[in-house]
Amino acid sequence: MSITLHKGDLPDGLTLGPLVAIDSETMGLNPGRDRLCLVQLSSGDGTAHMVQIGQGQTSAPNLGRMLTDPATTKLFHFARFDIAMFKQYLGVTTAPLYCTKIASKLTRTFTDKHGLKDLCKELLGIELSKQQQSSDWGAVELTSEQLAYAASDVLYLHRLWEKLDGLLVREGRRELAEACFRFLPTRGQLDLLGYEDPDLFHH
Ligand code: MN
Repeated sequence: MSITLHKGDLPDGLTLGPLVAIDSETMGLNPGRDRLCLVQLSSGDGTAHMVQIGQGQTSAPNLGRMLTDPATTKLFHFARFDIAMFKQYLGVTTAPLYCTKIASKLTRTFTDKHGLKDLCKELLGIELSKQQQSSDWGAVELTSEQLAYAASDVLYLHRLWEKLDGLLVREGRRELAEACFRFLPTRGQLDLLGYEDPDLFHH
């Protein structure tokens, strides 16, 4: 597995193709409290690029350009959280995007297991280790174990996308999924405004 770590932003001129798998690591699950620490990206070729975001950093121009590029679909698992973090800490609205968790929930209605680890195991036969999930992502020097874990969160998304997109077509829910993906930036903004709990759409 090849991992390239960048400090602060992607290098000039790096292109990762029309479908880029993206994940992020943070200090916690509260976007208003917990800062963005690392953004992982992969073109789907088995390698990963990572951008370490410094304390107090408020933008990353090259990364931001990719996140907002209309010709690049950003592929996530549970996009809702990552894009709220990108809005909060990089000031960008991520679009267009695709979320494998939503694709799974819309098609694999026979199960309630839609975690990345579950999907990798059930759709690809790959065992993901979640050991480093709750480690200190704010460390100035990340360990090789942390980097390998962080990379594994983006390396299989293209293969999952292929399977899940096929299921969306088979079940006649691709357009519904697209409508959900288009709405996600708004959903992320609502989360940042505090409309998460109780949910805006709740009675
Ligand atoms: Mn992750």
